Amino acid sequence: MSDEELICSFCGRTKPQTDLLIAGLDAHICDKCIHQAHGIVIEEAKDENESSTDSSSLDLKTPQLTKEFLDQYIIGQDAAKRVISVAVYNHYKRLSHPKAELEEIEIQKSNILLVGQTGTGKTLLAQSIAKMLSVPLAIVDATILTEAGYVGEDVESILTRLLQAADYDVEKAQRGIVFIDEIDKIARKGDNPSITRDVSGEGVQQALLKLLEGTVVNVPPKGGRKHPDQKFIEVDTSNILFIAGGAFDGIEREINKRLNLQAIGYKIESQKEDLDKENLLQYVNPKDVKSFGLIPEIIGRLPVLTHMHPLDRKTLRSILTEPKNALTKQYEKLFEIDGIKLTFSSGALDFIVDKALEYNLGARGLRSLCEAILTDAMFEMPGTDKTELKISKSYAERKLNNSKDPALKAVS
Ligand code: ADP
Repeated sequence: MSDEELICSFCGRTKPQTDLLIAGLDAHICDKCIHQAHGIVIEEAKDENESSTDSSSLDLKTPQLTKEFLDQYIIGQDAAKRVISVAVYNHYKRLSHPKAELEEIEIQKSNILLVGQTGTGKTLLAQSIAKMLSVPLAIVDATILTEAGYVGEDVESILTRLLQAADYDVEKAQRGIVFIDEIDKIARKGDNPSITRDVSGEGVQQALLKLLEGTVVNVPPKGGRKHPDQKFIEVDTSNILFIAGGAFDGIEREINKRLNLQAIGYKIESQKEDLDKENLLQYVNPKDVKSFGLIPEIIGRLPVLTHMHPLDRKTLRSILTEPKNALTKQYEKLFEIDGIKLTFSSGALDFIVDKALEYNLGARGLRSLCEAILTDAMFEMPGTDKTELKISKSYAERKLNNSKDPALKAVS
């Protein structure tokens, strides 16, 4: 076949009329048709992205409904739930209104700082919010972050995780949530004498600050160190909601000191009397947090400050049985799948709570305790014809005494 006879199967041009004619199995395509087809593919992909990340598709609930949603999963912590419901509502409301509609007033985002002991539900709160909104969530531990070039992870790795959680859909990632745990552990050197080299101090905070403020970052999609051969994905952090959490051990002392000074300063004895000494955390303010070595700019970029109450006996008991996916409900389901009806006596539940308190394991300990108590049964019962298991206090006690779990053994 001569060159004149070869034609593009799409537009009919002959080979001399094209710059390039590519042969397929039994068809040809010219450079012009390839360009046109490429344009169509890009347009289609864009339309699809826009419809899948349309802001109106965000399941944004009013603050009251948000709190009701959170109530299903998180026991107590009313103050934090209220504050966060409002912050989340404002943050996503801002996204769902085009810039023009907001005119010249730029609403800043409401990044959140959660102060509360470990195991009080900080991560659970972030997870529940992400679940409610169906947005991707990345959970990172601030202590693994170091300045670029040092052993540890660059701050950008936070965004790698968010991208992964969003299945590499950049638009989705850009409206996701990042939960940074242990933010109180990245104090700068000056405020924390135990840190000898400041690789994870102020440098990390400066890098974090940029993310919190909103910036475009080149993110290595597979994580790890940046190296020249790796292709980067650009992620704009302006609309990502950051929730930072930390125990801020000893912060009550700071709060107490400040409140006492205030009281003396203004001679407001009656006000001092009204203080709830049992739960000073509720009076936390940005000044108290500053003494932990967070630079003021970071604190300024986490404007919504709230606290999580320590968990008391009553709360722990409720956590065990009440939330939508409460531990006891989870185990009941696991046994039910094997045709076994699992029940806990009230005495057994009280015993588990007492042990969690005794071991100072908080809510996190409830799971290890249940696991230790139920492992034997979960090993032995499937495949037998037993259809019922009642956990009494004495059963729980016996199983726990035989437990091989070092965490539980060590304290017993
Ligand atoms: P933190 O992030 O504050 O250390 P987590 O959110 O990881 O705590 O909580 C640890 C576990 O304890 C969670 O898996 C959750 O099941 C449980 N938990 C903690 N606080 C609560 C709460 N207020 N309501 C229900 N479950 C809770």
